[in-house]
Amino acid sequence: MKTGVMDPELRKELQHLDGVKAEWDVTMAGHTSLRVGGPVSCLLRPLNLAGLQTAVQVLNQNNYPYFILGRGTNLLVQDAGIKAVAISLEEGFSQVERNDGKVKAGAGLRLSRLLRFCLQQNLSGLEFIAGIPGSVGGALRMNAGTPAGEMADVCEAAHLVLADGALARLDRTRLPFSYRRLDLPPAAVVVGAEFLLTVSSREHMRQRIRSLLKARKDKQPWRLPSAGSVFKNPPGDFAGRLIEAVGLKGVRIGDAQISPKHANFIVNRGQARARDILALIHLAQQKVSQEFGVHLELEIEVVGNHHNGS
Ligand SMILES: Cc1cc2nc3c(=O)[nH]c(=O)nc-3n(C[C@H](O)[C@H](O)[C@H](O)COP(=O)(O)OP(=O)(O)OC[C@H]3O[C@@H](n4cnc5c(N)ncnc54)[C@H](O)[C@@H]3O)c2cc1C
Repeated sequence: MKTGVMDPELRKELQHLDGVKAEWDVTMAGHTSLRVGGPVSCLLRPLNLAGLQTAVQVLNQNNYPYFILGRGTNLLVQDAGIKAVAISLEEGFSQVERNDGKVKAGAGLRLSRLLRFCLQQNLSGLEFIAGIPGSVGGALRMNAGTPAGEMADVCEAAHLVLADGALARLDRTRLPFSYRRLDLPPAAVVVGAEFLLTVSSREHMRQRIRSLLKARKDKQPWRLPSAGSVFKNPPGDFAGRLIEAVGLKGVRIGDAQISPKHANFIVNRGQARARDILALIHLAQQKVSQEFGVHLELEIEVVGNHHNGS
């Protein structure tokens, strides 16, 4: 992502946008599940669609970089932070409603709340999100999932705000989902999603959710901050198995550690810095490449400047 110093005029304009709250120099450690990361220049919280549309228009007209912050559960923000605007949809985009077998959810809605709603409505299909801590928008963008299912299986349509502020509804035939990814039009923001679900028994769904959560707790570290799986699984194999096989399970740099419970997780044992986590990432990539000839591709997203001022 291109980053840059903000023009004072743009700062003034963002500060006074209708229907948008602006905060300045916000430390990302407080907004990411890894609990690391320096400040973002500005955090915008649009409270409604018109506010978001104007914010996106203004940022694009000024060619100023921005990114969408979901719940920050798949992000590693550099220690120096990032000279860019983060846009959070948590406040104005968390509605959820049912229309027959369809559920329409705002991008800022937590996945846990979406799942609770589906359970109340006896609508099955999204049980696989149990234990995934993101938002609807982040989950769509990442095509979040597990072997039990992924967003691509149930997403009927996505509602977007495009770079010029225009609205678009893309149905599933126009949503290019792939493994842990959905390619969106450049600079587009997901504002909501429609899911096609099937009526089912609440008790049956409950049991399924319980068993998925138990499997997760048995296999994954859940008491310490992390960003879930660090690497994508290479075709036909598991990143965790490869990292364990090269002897890195439990290895620590500073307060960052390759989890002794699941080698594809890096946990923050207290005061980890992004640079410690990145050092573990490079170590795992190097060793796995040397010993198995396999390149481990990142699943988490690294954002930010390497050094202050760059
Ligand atoms: C303990 C733990 C377990 C996890 N388990 C799983 C798992 O089983 N399966 C899995 O797939 N993931 C898992 N994750 C990773 C993560 O929760 C998912 O990728 C989740 O979907 C990310 O959602 P988020 O809202 O936190 O997105 P963020 O991390 O905030 O953002 C992720 C990406 O999506 C973009 N984005 C976010 N919102 C929008 C939007 N509205 N419009 C456009 N782009 C947007 C961001 O810019 C960024 O590029 C886990 C994470 C943790 C911490």
